[in-house]
Amino acid sequence: MVTCPFGAIMDKSEIYQLVEAFKGEDEVCAIIAPAFVGQFGDKVSADQVVEGLLQLGFDDVREVAYGADITAVDEARHFLKNVPIDQPFLATSCCPAWLKVAQKELGDKAYCVSDSLSPMVETANYLRKQFPKTRIVMIGPCSAKKYEAAYMDPNQNVNFVLTYEEINAMFIARGIDLVTLIPSHTLNHASVDGRGFAISGGVLSAVENVIKRLDPDRVIKVERAETLHSCRKMLLMAKAGRKDGYLLEGMACPGGCVGGAGTIIHPTKATSNVTNFARSSDKASALKTYAEFKNQD
Ligand code: SF4
Repeated sequence: MVTCPFGAIMDKSEIYQLVEAFKGEDEVCAIIAPAFVGQFGDKVSADQVVEGLLQLGFDDVREVAYGADITAVDEARHFLKNVPIDQPFLATSCCPAWLKVAQKELGDKAYCVSDSLSPMVETANYLRKQFPKTRIVMIGPCSAKKYEAAYMDPNQNVNFVLTYEEINAMFIARGIDLVTLIPSHTLNHASVDGRGFAISGGVLSAVENVIKRLDPDRVIKVERAETLHSCRKMLLMAKAGRKDGYLLEGMACPGGCVGGAGTIIHPTKATSNVTNFARSSDKASALKTYAEFKNQD
């Protein structure tokens, strides 16, 4: 979709369905993936984006990085329990494009791909329990998440998926000038770990951080790949037994989600923005979010 010079490959837009949802009686909640920081202009703060979404018609805005924290703790526990005794390595699973390729390339080792829920699904399922009637809208950098929501998990609770590009088109159409808005909310749902998922290496770092806290003596080997070409090479090595004992992270897009098909700014700039946003969290570890999640469960 990104590289086709003729624009012959398109994703399916759900802008119309979202506008209809705004007109309906049910509340509509946005869940926004952490690569959003800086996507809507250099001078637009994260909180101004939230304010813009509220003015667009959303009733609430939550961080997908909240679900990423839960995923990180799940994968850390899975690794500690199963690698290397029950499985030779663990591959992360939050990128749906990587996940599909990994399941295909690994053959009889496909069971080594994590079965943890993705951050998007984890966040949506959590909200669905609290607010059974709310319409849940994923806003992210990713066209593959549209596929994930539609086909990969029949039990997930995301109603629509829109990219930053599509939301930006809606801001422009409604004449919402984000830089002039005075924020009324601050995002504070997620930890440094969960917000870092948007950057290549961020999932590894989050899971590693949790492992270090749960089992400080455990030494783990990690490797990551970005772009499907590099992911395939890593998977072939894993299938051949050359990555035993490893935690493997794959991201389909260059630089990770900051390079997703629905982003607006350059991945290098987005990486710096996300890093600063992650560091601004007052939760130092995904385990803090996980403890709150379990208390409310
Ligand atoms: S790396 Fe790309 S395809 Fe994978 S989840 Fe992120 S944006 Fe989507």
